Amino acid sequence: MSAIFHRQIRTTLPQAVSASGLYITDTAGKKYLDACGGAAVSCLGHNHPDVIAAMAAQMAQLDYAHTSFFTTRVAEELADTLIANAPAGMSHVYLVSGGSEAMEAALKMARQYFVEIGEPQRKHFIARRQSYHGNTLGALAVGGNAWRRAQFEPLLIDVTHVSPCYEYRDRLPTETTQQYGQRLVMELEAELLRLGPDKVIGICVEPVVGATLGAVPAVPGYFKAMRALCDRYGVLLIADEVMCGMGRTGTLHAVEQESMVPDLMAVAKGLGGGYQAIGAVLAQRKIHDVFAHGSGQFMHGHTYIGHPVACAAALEVQRILQREHLVEASRVHGLALQRKLQAAFSRHPHVGDIRGRGLFQAIELVADRQSKQPFAPQLQLNARIREQAMARGLMVYAMGGTIDGRQGDHILLAPPFIVEDRDLDAIVTRLADAVDAALAALPS
Ligand code: PLP
Repeated sequence: MSAIFHRQIRTTLPQAVSASGLYITDTAGKKYLDACGGAAVSCLGHNHPDVIAAMAAQMAQLDYAHTSFFTTRVAEELADTLIANAPAGMSHVYLVSGGSEAMEAALKMARQYFVEIGEPQRKHFIARRQSYHGNTLGALAVGGNAWRRAQFEPLLIDVTHVSPCYEYRDRLPTETTQQYGQRLVMELEAELLRLGPDKVIGICVEPVVGATLGAVPAVPGYFKAMRALCDRYGVLLIADEVMCGMGRTGTLHAVEQESMVPDLMAVAKGLGGGYQAIGAVLAQRKIHDVFAHGSGQFMHGHTYIGHPVACAAALEVQRILQREHLVEASRVHGLALQRKLQAAFSRHPHVGDIRGRGLFQAIELVADRQSKQPFAPQLQLNARIREQAMARGLMVYAMGGTIDGRQGDHILLAPPFIVEDRDLDAIVTRLADAVDAALAALPS
C-alpha cells in the first residue's frame, strides 16, 4: 500500500511508467491511447524531444531564480511570445503554475484594479452555472457547480451564478438560436442590475465550457453581446481559457472565434503541454497601467511564478505549435473528428448531442433521445464508459452525475494536435465499443 493521498481514495489506478507521442504505457506494458490529453493538457503528445532538450538546457544553465530578485530571459521571451499572439490590447502576462492559480490571480487582479481606481465598493463576481474554474477557494467560488462548493461555502467570496449557454438543453422550441442568446444576455443584465453594476467586479466565463459539460460552445453573438454589456456597466470580462485555450479549439485562443476581447484571460494546461506546471494571466494594458501608475505592485505572488524550466518548456511548446502549424492541425483534425463522431453516433439511441470545436469534442449520453432524459446519476454511466475505454486502451475524459439538479453523462475527447486520421478512427471505434459495452452492462 503506497502513502499517496489520491483524490479518489478507494480507486486503484494503473501505474504509468512511460509515454511517447499519443501513448502512455503502464507497468504491465499496456498502452493507452491518450484521446483526452489527460485533461486537455497534452497538445504536442508525450515526450517531445525538443521540449525535453529545452528544459534540460535551461536546467543546466539556470535552475531557479526568485522573482523578487531577478527577471529571466526565458520568462520575458515567453511573455513576449504570448503577447505577440494575444487578443487585441493585451499587453502584459502574469505567470503562475497552473489553471486554478491563473484564475485566482485574475480574480485578485480584477479586484485590485477597482481598488486602485477608487472603486473599492466593487466586491462581487458573476459567473455561470455548470462551469469549472479550478479548486482553490477563489476559483471554486466562481465555479458553477453547487455540489463542488457546498461544504466550502462559508469560506467563499461573493459570487452569483447565471445560466450557462447550453443550447442543446436550454433553448426553448419557440426560440431561434439568436433569441436564445439574447435571452441569456438579458438574464445577465438583470443580475447586474439586481446587484447594482457599481458593486460588480467582473464576469467570469469559459468561452467553450470544458470540465463540467464537455465542449459546449456558446451560440453566435452571445459573447459579443456580453462584452457590450460589460462595457456599458464598466465591469471586467474575465475569460477562463485554461482548458479551451492555447490552440485546443482550432484557434490559439477560443475568444478569437467570438469577436470578443476579454479584459483578463487565464491560460494553463496546453501552455506547458504537460511538460511543466505553468499557467498565465494575460491582461489588457489599461489594467497593467493602473497598477503601474498607482500602487506600483500587484499584491500577489507565489514562490514558483515564472520558473525558468517551466517557461523554457512553455516557450518551446509555443515554438513547435507555430513551426509545425499545429493550431491549424487542431482545427482540421477537429473537423475530421466531429465527422467521425457523427458517423458513429448520430443515430445511436443513447447519444443526444455531438459538439465541440477543434480537437475539443464531446458526446452527451441520454436515456432517451426524444425527451433528452439523462441516465440516472447513480448508474454512473460516464465512469463505466471510462472504465470500458481504459480496458480497451483508450483514455477519455468522462463527466457526469448530478450537476446542480441537472443530470448528464458527457465524454470529452481532446487528443494531442499530432493525431493522424487513423488515430482518430481508432479513438472513435474504441469509444463506440466502450459506450456499447457500458450500456450493455447497466443494471436493468
Ligand atoms: N479553469 C478551467 C476552465 C479548467 O478546466 C480547469 C481545470 O480543469 C481549471 C481552471 C483549473 O486548472 P488546474 O487544474 O490547473 O488548477
